Amino acid sequence: MSAPRLEIHLEHLQHNASTLVNRLSSQGIKVTGVSKATLGLPEIARAWVTAGVHSIGESRIESIESLSRYELGVPLLLIRSPMLSQVDRVVAHAAISCNSEAVVLKALAAAAKCQGVRHGVLLMVELGDLREGILAADLEEMVLLTLTLPSLVLVGVGTNLGCQNGIAPDEANMGELSHLMTALERRFCIRLELCSGGNSANLPWLAGGGNPGRINHLRLGEALLLGREPLTRTAIPGLYTNAITLVAEVIESKRKPSRAWGTPHCTSFANGPVVPQKQSDQPMTMRALLALGEQDADPAGLSAPGISIEGASSDHLVVSEAAGAEAVALAVGDEQRFELSYSSLLRAMTSPFVSRCFIGRTA
Ligand SMILES: *Cc1c(COP(=O)(O)O)cnc(C)c1O
Repeated sequence: MSAPRLEIHLEHLQHNASTLVNRLSSQGIKVTGVSKATLGLPEIARAWVTAGVHSIGESRIESIESLSRYELGVPLLLIRSPMLSQVDRVVAHAAISCNSEAVVLKALAAAAKCQGVRHGVLLMVELGDLREGILAADLEEMVLLTLTLPSLVLVGVGTNLGCQNGIAPDEANMGELSHLMTALERRFCIRLELCSGGNSANLPWLAGGGNPGRINHLRLGEALLLGREPLTRTAIPGLYTNAITLVAEVIESKRKPSRAWGTPHCTSFANGPVVPQKQSDQPMTMRALLALGEQDADPAGLSAPGISIEGASSDHLVVSEAAGAEAVALAVGDEQRFELSYSSLLRAMTSPFVSRCFIGRTA
């Protein structure tokens, strides 16, 4: 088998999804499976649909378009505000998009009218993480605009925390979203379908007894793919953290001094030099070189028992035995498997040098 490769256990991904779908449905919450870190792999989307997700979410129109060819039987949700230049493609392939700009809503409405379709709109509210969203004070005006455009359907309100500034969902911001939803329904005499509370960063708050209030929808990526919540990277009980792993091949294996020597300067990927010590001071350690680099994965997001990541350049990953660990004997030609962080997974999926290998089939 070729290396580097991502090994994708579809049954484990399906298990993660059905576990969270069931756990959250007991709180009245539906799940959109966000597949963007996999560039919208249809095999994964299908496993999630089998597990009972409400819809599939993607941030790029290209992935929405390719998923739309697989007839998954669930709506496709564009989770990033549509580019003004892509509104035709958005209304043609996404059932719903997340929105925060009046000019985009008007363009979506015109495109939908032209195509004879109605397009769903989820209005995103800024609640403190300072990425996308309408300020609460401007929300009524945007709702009014959406309601006056007959080719648009206002499906609800949502927010996104955690991703930009690591702001955690809590009683205050989640309570505010619930309150805004109720206030809008009263003000406009409407009933909104979705109150979309956020992403995987919402799970610790809910697991800790947070009151969902009106929140009845989450958009989950990292929790489904990697079994972790993003705020502290803690594993979520009952989920697989190794449903997707990265396998790389050893190309050099030698005992070498544990520190570099000579005059240090910037490295290929870092500005700070490593402080050198004289060669004679160095204990020798077992080091291995893997055919994997910055071009394939974020090295800071790789982990494997007994192995410490020393660093990486474009095409080389340097590892050593972790302190106190049992010696992991890596010989040339051996394969080493790593668990991945979200950023590492995203880069590995994006690299043309990393192949994908599916293990197991889902129902
Ligand atoms: C990426 C993204 C998600 C999913 O985030 P996870 O932390 O992977 O669960 C949800 N909503 C929006 C708007 C996103 O951009």
